[in-house]
Amino acid sequence: MKRIVNILLVDDQAENLLALEGVLRGPDRKIFKALNGIAALELLIQHEFGLAIIDVHMPELSGFALAELMRNSDDTQSIPIIFVNAGREDDLTTFKGFEVGAVDFLQKPLNEHITKSKVSVFLDLFRQKKLLKEQVSALELTRLELEKSKAHLSTSNAELERFAYVASHDMKEPLRTIISYLSLISRECRGKLSAEVDEYIGFTISSAERLSHLLDSLMQLSKIGHGGLEISNVDFGGLVKEILEDLGPQIEQLNASVQVGALPTIQADGNLMRQLLQNLISNSLKYIGARPPEIQINCEKTGANWLFTVKDNGIGIAEKDFERIFKSFVRGHSKHDYPGAGIGLSICRSIIEKHGGKIWVKSEKGSGSQFQFVVPDPLVLGH
Ligand code: ADP
Repeated sequence: MKRIVNILLVDDQAENLLALEGVLRGPDRKIFKALNGIAALELLIQHEFGLAIIDVHMPELSGFALAELMRNSDDTQSIPIIFVNAGREDDLTTFKGFEVGAVDFLQKPLNEHITKSKVSVFLDLFRQKKLLKEQVSALELTRLELEKSKAHLSTSNAELERFAYVASHDMKEPLRTIISYLSLISRECRGKLSAEVDEYIGFTISSAERLSHLLDSLMQLSKIGHGGLEISNVDFGGLVKEILEDLGPQIEQLNASVQVGALPTIQADGNLMRQLLQNLISNSLKYIGARPPEIQINCEKTGANWLFTVKDNGIGIAEKDFERIFKSFVRGHSKHDYPGAGIGLSICRSIIEKHGGKIWVKSEKGSGSQFQFVVPDPLVLGH
């Protein structure tokens, strides 16, 4: 159903008003009649009108004088006006408010068909304008809601990060004491109690150590969220060499081969980049199948970015997990088969996003994974 629009008819002759009302009557409009300009102004204050049809020649306040008063008020300024004129057509050009709002004319005696169709056009325009206005304010409302929830989200994210930092920081200390005393107990009591007790103590120590690693990762994650970047020229070739030296015993034990292509020196936070590459390379040595691990690390320039690739021949990742493994505490493989807390890749993503880059994975389950990330060059700071 069409929205009802109010129409104001102004004429000093009651019979003219009635005749016009008879022509214009319809279910999608409500007609108000005024016999002079003052009565019209009163109605204009009380109601919202989509159209005013005003007789030009009225004794006290002429049609033009009324229209000029309407144009001077913010509330009535944009109401379209149709002047009804009984005199010569060029009389109409004397109205000075043409430049503001819509104005049209009807010449007496009124042609019913022309009158009806002109009025319908104005009513439809009014409805469309109203609808548009409502849509704009609905959009504005949605925008404000979105902004509110964004602000709320960033506050809760910041609170969560602060909580993670404080919690992990304060838990680290007692946990270190627990591990030290358990190690002491284990050393003192080994062989003196039953073999089972020795085993229980061993389990407890390794659980406490796992918890300690988890807290370290949590602390790293929240530190990255909190801290800024310490930018310097980072020699990625040298960085990878150091990481591979640290992982040397594991590489040797697994009989892994690691091929490193030419890597650039670019502006970045060296410590964070070390953490990122270390996580990716360690994962390549962790998620392995029956074959000895083969890892390739390469980099190429693509436009304004450096594209790094860490490729392995391990167990691969199902496509449904490509996105979710970069979230905190999400794991793609069972804890029993491959230990871990599911934080490493979310740390990698935080690091890369801080540098204004992106990280993703390509893989096929069973035939290795290829982690890729881009770092902008030159670095776009402020992330
Ligand atoms: P974690 O290794 O502690 O689970 P990560 O955040 O480093 O945490 O990894 C998330 C998940 O992504 C892992 O549980 C694993 O399923 C998958 N994943 C990461 N790296 C590899 C890889 N090189 N090959 C196969 N799967 C991987």
